Amino acid sequence: MKLPHQSAIKRPHSKTPAHKDIYSTRLSNQPQTGFHEGFRTSDEFFRQLVESLEDYAVFTTDIKGNISSWNRGAKKIFGYTEKELLGKNSSVLFVKQDLKNNIAQKELYTALKKGKSIGERWHMRKDTSKFWGSNLVFPLYDSEKNVRGFTKVTRDLTDRKVARDQEKKFRSVIENSSDGIRLIDRNGKITYASPSTKRILGYNPKEYVNQKIIDLIHKDDKKIYRDTMRKILDNPGSSVHLTYQIKHKDGTYRWMEGVGTNLLDDPAVNAIVSNFRDITERKDLERRKDEFVSMASHELKTPITSLNLFTDMLKKNAQEKKYDSIPTFAKKIRQQTSKLTEIVNDLLDVSRIETGKMRFRTEKFNLSELLHDIVDDMQYTTHKHKIVCIAKQPMLITADRYRIYQVLTNLLTNAIKYSPENTQITVTLKKQKNFALVSVADKGIGISKDQHKNIFDKLYQVGDSKEKTFPGLGMGLYISKEIITRHNGKIWVKSKGKSIGKKPGNGSTFYFTLPLNV
Ligand code: ADP
Repeated sequence: MKLPHQSAIKRPHSKTPAHKDIYSTRLSNQPQTGFHEGFRTSDEFFRQLVESLEDYAVFTTDIKGNISSWNRGAKKIFGYTEKELLGKNSSVLFVKQDLKNNIAQKELYTALKKGKSIGERWHMRKDTSKFWGSNLVFPLYDSEKNVRGFTKVTRDLTDRKVARDQEKKFRSVIENSSDGIRLIDRNGKITYASPSTKRILGYNPKEYVNQKIIDLIHKDDKKIYRDTMRKILDNPGSSVHLTYQIKHKDGTYRWMEGVGTNLLDDPAVNAIVSNFRDITERKDLERRKDEFVSMASHELKTPITSLNLFTDMLKKNAQEKKYDSIPTFAKKIRQQTSKLTEIVNDLLDVSRIETGKMRFRTEKFNLSELLHDIVDDMQYTTHKHKIVCIAKQPMLITADRYRIYQVLTNLLTNAIKYSPENTQITVTLKKQKNFALVSVADKGIGISKDQHKNIFDKLYQVGDSKEKTFPGLGMGLYISKEIITRHNGKIWVKSKGKSIGKKPGNGSTFYFTLPLNV
């Protein structure tokens, strides 16, 4: 950008009054009475005034930007003496990037066009260090109203800029934090809520502010919350960790883990800062784990109690020389140890899955044969259900035979467990594109639709543990799903829903696929 030639420039028609020079500019801005009145026309007074300003760099340039005067403040702020800069172009005071973008010239051009140019930018000192300057540039006119040059006033606002940037940074950290942050006043009223409040608790920050925090806390946790608040209020600067339940906008309660810090005495904050994160899922898992441990102990205890009983009976009968009963008790003991082994094996499998250590030993075999073998084995153990196997077509697969056997045993055991006596269970094998499709259908209690996905989750037993009617730890389907998906197959269930009361069940059909050898 080229600045116009001096003679072509006249003062713009703006509200800014025409100024003879920098000093008369100052003069016109002064009150017209009192102390300054006596110096109205005194160039010397303003020269001294400008010269004495320490916190403002004030300098003048000619029309091309060459420096023609330099006050004490300019020396202090830019580091150059007047001697060093007189006659030099004021562009030396700009940072490289601004020079590249012609900012030095643009600033003068704006001042010419608009009567002044106001801005803030980085400037460069003599020692090449940078400072953040706020600038005011305005043109100087001679008596013919031709532009004679410019005056530039610069203040060093680096501290303010750093503080502002820091505040911006902190604000952005808070606003983008995945944790929720709220400020609470001395009376427990929320005065600020970060945007993440919406994601965590469903409230827009605006609707959250002004609510009393205690009104949102779950009744079971109100006391501990109050006590904790009291404790931090008594100790300015202190922090306290707390887990509590708080109301979500949807009316449910969520578990939060949080830290409250009393910064009421810090004038910059003047609040209790509370940050919180949703730990509902973790709490739920903890609860399920606790339930699982208690259920697992119960499951293990049942066969152990029977084992104790049978061994006592065995001992007693042996002492009484009733040897005929020994094979019966030995058989019962064997059944109980098998049950124990099954539970322990399942627990080991779950742990193997969790640690990624479940290994498979694959071999090529005919799935149809395996199905017939399993059905025969299972039918041998139960006389209360009829198990039918429809698997005529031979189907070759490469898989871990023992693990596929385990999946089918699981499905059949469940089918037996969850269906009434004298009903039929049907195992079917079909070809579906490049996959073998196996189904196990029963006429039992059925499974409600909303549970169809969950039952393949670890530790999942339909219904609450308190209303538990069937033994089991909810590990079988979880293990089965892992086995099938690790074999590149799929497993799912279809059922029209769970029967209520004594009504006949809708039945369930479990399906899984396995890739065929092609
Ligand atoms: P477990 O039977 O040991 O509880 P599973 O993982 O095998 O564990 O099954 C998980 C849950 O799925 C069971 O608790 C039961 O509620 C439901 N379920 C599984 N199979 C059937 C079935 N054939 N009919 C009805 N419900 C079933």
